[in-house]
Amino acid sequence: MTVSVCWFRRDLRLADNRALTMAASEGEVLALFVADPAFARAGPPRRVFLARTLDRLGASTDHALVVRRGDPVEVVRRTAEEVGARVVFAATDFGPYGRRRDEAVARRLAEAGIELRLVDSPYAVDPGRVTKEDGTPYAVFTPFSRVWERTGCEAPIPAPAAVRWRRAASDGPLPEPLDPAELPAPGEAAAHDLADRFLGAGIERYAEDRNTPATHGTSGLSPYLRWGVIHPRQLLARLGPSRSEAVFRSELAWREFYADVLWRRPETAWASLQPKMRRMPVDEDAAARARFASWTAGTTGYPIVDAGMRQLAATGWMHNRVRMIVASFLVKDLHLPWQWGARHFLQRLVDGDLASNSHGWQWTAGTGTDAAPYFRIFNPVSQAQKFDPEGQYVRRWVPELRMVGDADVFAPWRAKGGLPLGALEPMVDHAVERTEALRRYAQVSGQ
Ligand code: FAD
Repeated sequence: MTVSVCWFRRDLRLADNRALTMAASEGEVLALFVADPAFARAGPPRRVFLARTLDRLGASTDHALVVRRGDPVEVVRRTAEEVGARVVFAATDFGPYGRRRDEAVARRLAEAGIELRLVDSPYAVDPGRVTKEDGTPYAVFTPFSRVWERTGCEAPIPAPAAVRWRRAASDGPLPEPLDPAELPAPGEAAAHDLADRFLGAGIERYAEDRNTPATHGTSGLSPYLRWGVIHPRQLLARLGPSRSEAVFRSELAWREFYADVLWRRPETAWASLQPKMRRMPVDEDAAARARFASWTAGTTGYPIVDAGMRQLAATGWMHNRVRMIVASFLVKDLHLPWQWGARHFLQRLVDGDLASNSHGWQWTAGTGTDAAPYFRIFNPVSQAQKFDPEGQYVRRWVPELRMVGDADVFAPWRAKGGLPLGALEPMVDHAVERTEALRRYAQVSGQ
């Protein structure tokens, strides 16, 4: 009986898993997950979620999932040789680390006459496929998304029936680092339950509600998409023509756009995409580090910023609108390098994803793919008034403001009777820092 290895990475599901389906069609399958020491770079919420997700995946493989610790270059070859596999199936990883790792794994396997066969990817349309007619890439989102949508993708396929799992010794479950964050339920069934609930009802108001952090207006699917517990194809296939469904489709396209940008320009994981912005003057001294500490702790004195940072600490997740507000604040009010914020996000986010995170940061910082960065300096008070008009989100996460009235909740320092008890002084004056940000931008853009 032929046996092959199915190496799970960012595709921790059985349904619509083409690498698994192909492996299963050839004979027995050894399901492998390699606990790579490089995971230590992922923050605790992501590692906890991964450990729990693997536990669920293990259960759905009838406990045949083999988890092995160590360098994938050695572990994958050793495991394949142990069971006499000639082929290792996996989904393509388009990230900079994954590409380097897979090249090294493929070389090591080839020495033993074993093939690494990459099938499919975590995206509906693989990075690199959307191009202009002359084959060059799109630099901005809107034209990319039009072609992406026209390109389309195949329909999802069900989990392969009755896989013949090959069993082997496992190093056991991944340890769960201690972390206070309340994380979403792990596993494929939980991902589909959430998708069913969202696509069944929540999506009707998605176009209106997706920007208001106090409502549950977004899908909450990002951690599952991050680990491939659900594939975007499985969501896209269920979307109809309504406005909200079109907006949701377009959000999925953002994820694919950023993956495409990072695949083409891997150095932009940590370097500004626009070369001139690499000369942007930023503060990095001890005072800057103290400002950064206030930002991470959610004690800036700007209620919407503090609410977002506290939501992140407590849940490993932050609403997209608030991610933009806190990111703008770090870069344009505190004048810190966007990379500091991006690194903190990757430590704390349960959905931390290099492409979406670095380019989400760069879009907000005006160093990346946004066409009009100059004019987008979010005012943390008016953003809160617009997107959290009743102050529900701010009051939920900043308890010291619960008793503050609507008129002052977004800028308590303006209260007639002085700063309310327990409220924090704003650490900077937004109007002053906005002018300073524009001055610095003018310096690098020669205006
Ligand atoms: P929904 O609104 O339900 O959207 C559905 C899916 O579309 C999301 O799960 C996500 O996969 C994708 N998506 C939506 N918006 C975006 C976007 N702007 N860019 C890329 N993909 C998007 N998303 C991550 O998955 N991981 C990150 O590390 C990450 N870091 C970010 C950092 C900053 C500074 C910013 C501004 C955005 C970041 N995002 C990141 C994008 C976005 O905030 C999250 O994807 C979204 O909040 C997840 O919640 P949801 O699943 O309820 O989103």
